[in-house]
Amino acid sequence: MRLQDKIAIVTGASQGIGQAIAETFVREGAIVLNLSITQPVYDNDRVTFYPVDVTDRTELEKLIPELHRAYGRFDILVNNAGITRDALMTRMSEDMWDAVIDINLKGVFNVTQLVAPYMIEQQTGSIINISSVVGEYGNIGQTNYAATKAGVVAMAKTWAKEFTRKGGAVRVNAIAPGFINTDMMKTVPDKVLDPIRQKTPLKRLGEPQEIANAALFLASEEASFITGHLLSVNGGIVL
Ligand code: NAP
Repeated sequence: MRLQDKIAIVTGASQGIGQAIAETFVREGAIVLNLSITQPVYDNDRVTFYPVDVTDRTELEKLIPELHRAYGRFDILVNNAGITRDALMTRMSEDMWDAVIDINLKGVFNVTQLVAPYMIEQQTGSIINISSVVGEYGNIGQTNYAATKAGVVAMAKTWAKEFTRKGGAVRVNAIAPGFINTDMMKTVPDKVLDPIRQKTPLKRLGEPQEIANAALFLASEEASFITGHLLSVNGGIVL
């Protein structure tokens, strides 16, 4: 088991990619704390749901120290919670911009700022920010989303440098999924998805499990010399 008894926080683990990551970590021996808004429909006694909005700084300031008292340490943090609010740049409202920045960017800042000090203190930990192929290459209608997904890569690289300043091995990496079969993709029409499938050398969308496999690798000791890295998992859509 690659994550035996590790304590892993996964934000947005109630469904989709976050759920796959949580269940994969549990199969490898971890205990997972799911920080999401909606109660998950799946049942797993090693994944505990803590209802919280990653934009709610006040709640997080109460919850994270409580979790640390209860579990004793934090070994892994996956910043996975995220949303889209798509529109062309010329039509994007300020509300759409703010909602995506608040959750996808500031939410990652909020949770990491509260969790990382414990990892720095214990001199070990693995943080993974879930980015997107859109953050690497841009996408029509996703100015807000692309900005956040590029931002979480820049934050991961910055933290890879900052969190090891006093020694130790707090590793920080990012994963850039391509287009993955989850609820998030349900808002995307087939006329957009079909060309994506065609353009992808592997000729399909990805599955949440394929992102979870990458997260497992980065979270585990197998990636012990990897930090500040962006791992693209996208079927080769951009080469
Ligand atoms: P999803 O099925 O929509 O799941 C998103 C999760 O984030 C849900 O569990 C949701 O919780 C949670 N969440 C949303 N806002 C939150 C908030 N303010 N506070 C706490 N939790 C919140 O999305 P997904 O496709 O699995 O995406 C997961 C991550 O992968 C996102 O960061 C996304 O940008 C990224 N990604 C996805 C794709 C893709 O093709 N699907 C591609 C590249 C990157 P509730 O249900 O409780 O609201």
